[in-house]
Amino acid sequence: MSGRKEDVVPEKIAPKALSWASVLEEKTRAQAVQTAGMPFIHPHLALMPDAHLGKGATVGSVIPTDRAIIPAAVGVDIGCGMDAVRTQWTAEDLAGRDLRALRTGIERAVPLSAGKDNRRLIDSAAARVEQLERLAGEHQLDPARYAANWTLQLGSLGSGNHFIEVSLDTDDRVWLFLHSGSRGVGNKIASQHIAVAQEQCRRQRVELPDRDLAYLVEGTAEFDAYLRELRWAQEFARLNRAEMMDRVRQQIARLMGAEVEAELEVSCHHNYTEQEEHFGRRVWLSRKGAISARKGEWGLIPGSMGTRSYVVRGKGNRDSLCSAPHGAGRMHSRSAARKRFTQQQLREAMAGIEYRDTDAFLDEHPGAYKDIDQVMVDAADLVEVVHELRQVVNVKG
Ligand code: 5GP
Ligand code: MN
Ligand code: MN
Repeated sequence: MSGRKEDVVPEKIAPKALSWASVLEEKTRAQAVQTAGMPFIHPHLALMPDAHLGKGATVGSVIPTDRAIIPAAVGVDIGCGMDAVRTQWTAEDLAGRDLRALRTGIERAVPLSAGKDNRRLIDSAAARVEQLERLAGEHQLDPARYAANWTLQLGSLGSGNHFIEVSLDTDDRVWLFLHSGSRGVGNKIASQHIAVAQEQCRRQRVELPDRDLAYLVEGTAEFDAYLRELRWAQEFARLNRAEMMDRVRQQIARLMGAEVEAELEVSCHHNYTEQEEHFGRRVWLSRKGAISARKGEWGLIPGSMGTRSYVVRGKGNRDSLCSAPHGAGRMHSRSAARKRFTQQQLREAMAGIEYRDTDAFLDEHPGAYKDIDQVMVDAADLVEVVHELRQVVNVKG
């Protein structure tokens, strides 16, 4: 890997696949090529710099499909994404404040899952729950079928690499930044429709290169049902992040003795499907671990728990289907990372950052991810960097 972007951007890896990834595992490339071979891809699949192996379709890929959708190409965490707020405070305002108390305050205010803790807090989410109930009613769907406690899942972070951070940009301005999706209820919806698509393909005797590439065809009842629930789950994810951000704002307001004045708010899904126009056709565009990057559009690209994150604006790159990476992208599997890194190494990587010092996060060591600097070099034609953030507080799911 030379890191010179003219070597790689973009590389045609299949008749209908372009890649922006200079770091790409052979298996990941093969998986993307396989997806790009599905007959309804139009105009081509776009592989992002952070690409890595996923279920059925690659994480870090943009999959445009004509009159069909592959539910696994949206990802199982429907609507997963990032929210960020630029506050009025600077590093100087934070100096001498108790960041540990802020972290534990956030941990208490935002539970990892629905449960008795969230029951205590749910009042603040009532309006959002109502909004989601109304949406479900309008589309005659019943989320309780998937998760009886879905209302309690709203305002919960989830586990793994979902996170909440307080960060500083290069002007020393304080930011709030978080990553989460549609929680258990979205996961159940995704799994259900992947299974329905598999059943449909089996009945039609469609030969699939991978069962998880099963698809639903536009015009069928199954397609319509998926779309309704997909949209609901995307909305759940958006409101879930908004609810958590409100609680984080409350916590920092308490620490600073004043309300947050948001100067910029950015919210973007990175696992979702929308109808968009590309290369002369209206297609279903699934971004699975990718963000929309139309010209001037704001986006968020996090690095890892111990490295920089970026607030960007899209360049509207046509070949990428106006898309950009959604992070650094995992390089070592969770089990490999757990063997590779020690708690002491994680401590060193997290020097100066207020976080929960535990061996539970070894698989989240920055070294488990691709080099975010290389990802940003690869993405140079896709986005322009506006703010570079480094975290001072990290809360992990
Ligand atoms: P995914 O949505 O595919 O689960 O992960 C999104 C991206 O978030 C990862 O590729 C990684 O680059 C980034 N990431 C994971 N954990 C953290 C974290 O604790 N803090 C920050 N800033 N980024 C993270
Ligand atoms: Mn995500
Ligand atoms: Mn997620």
